[in-house]
Amino acid sequence: MDSTTQPTSGPRRTAARLPERRSAAGPGRTIGASSSVQGERRGPAAAGPGRGVAPRSGGRPDGPPGASSTLMYESKSFATCRESTYSEVSEVNGRKGLQGFPVRLDRYSRGHDRALRMAGFAGALGTVEGRRRGQKLRQCGSHLGFRHYFTIDEIRLHEAFFCQQFKLCPLCAIRRGAKMLRRYVERMLLVVASRPRLAAHLVTFTVKDGENLSERVVQLTGALDDLHARRRMFNYAEEHPRAKRQPFTEAVRCLGSVGSVEVKRGTGSGLWHPHFHDAWLCEDLPDEEQLRHEWRELTGDSHIVNVTPFHYVRRGEPATAENLCRDFSEVFKYALKFAELDLVDNWHAAQELHGRRLIRSHGLLFGVKVPEDLTDDPLTDADLPYVEWFYRFVAGQGYVLEHFDGDLPGEVASGQSCGYGAAAIDNSYAV
Ligand SMILES: [Zn+2]
Repeated sequence: MDSTTQPTSGPRRTAARLPERRSAAGPGRTIGASSSVQGERRGPAAAGPGRGVAPRSGGRPDGPPGASSTLMYESKSFATCRESTYSEVSEVNGRKGLQGFPVRLDRYSRGHDRALRMAGFAGALGTVEGRRRGQKLRQCGSHLGFRHYFTIDEIRLHEAFFCQQFKLCPLCAIRRGAKMLRRYVERMLLVVASRPRLAAHLVTFTVKDGENLSERVVQLTGALDDLHARRRMFNYAEEHPRAKRQPFTEAVRCLGSVGSVEVKRGTGSGLWHPHFHDAWLCEDLPDEEQLRHEWRELTGDSHIVNVTPFHYVRRGEPATAENLCRDFSEVFKYALKFAELDLVDNWHAAQELHGRRLIRSHGLLFGVKVPEDLTDDPLTDADLPYVEWFYRFVAGQGYVLEHFDGDLPGEVASGQSCGYGAAAIDNSYAV
């Protein structure tokens, strides 16, 4: 499936449609909760913080980004993508609520701004594929719908169109990275609970920089395949006494792993520099020197392998979700460092990596299902009241509030207690 459209999303939302959609949500969800506070609506709050805020005009959601937007993007580059992935997962499902929302929306703005520039580049190629991909990039995240469950201060991305072009679109890459991180951390917590001796290590495999990206990636993934083939052969021989003995490999110590290919330009060489970040679950610490020796054998010319225990292991702390997220985010940061690649390189890398398996797992971490839907997981407690915000991307400004829908209890509606004021929202999300 190449793209996903959430059922109620649409690029031309109008206020008139909102009541219909709320009705469609069914009684007892929004309607029941809102009705209970209907009589308390008063003053400016009755209009809601954004209801009176007209979308700022002067920009086209699918037009070229303005200079200020471009500058904003470059100065806050995605070089900190590890932090972005970690922040995203900590905010997915609204854990940070209103407090973290401006940062979250700013991150999405920068991602979509980059996607628009890539769309312009792809469209200018004059090919059918370029136009098709460019069109999807423009639509991706052009509108975002959030629900704020104000009684528990959770904000969930409820509806949006995602292009699912993870190698071209930072917004989709952010969302999927966070989804994967959550699922693998959940699996990891289950595994560690049943096998307390397990410790996680970040193992990074590198091959030499080169001009031909495809050839470099083939060497990297081929050597990884060979390493795990050695592991399987050794384990098979151990379990079958009649089988021929096989040489030991450090990979035998790895009882489960998940890793991803990352591609960027080498800092010194300027050549393509693919590498593989792998999370290994081991009961015995892998021997880094031995692993380097093996890696050189497998690649023929590369010996750079780094083994680093996860932060929580080094500190002797328990494997909590928070602890695991910090290090796992290194694995699930984006395959391409968008800010470090110009549009030409980005397009080329996406073409070269198309169809390749960049995420690999085995053993205790094999078979984790990551949903294709990139919106937040639905809230299981369906009775909580919420308000809805609809944002539209405006070039040069970022996401601006287009509609506000819902009723607020008095103290929230005052706009004082938790930043609901129209000015607060308007100022926070302008970029
Ligand atoms: Zn996208």
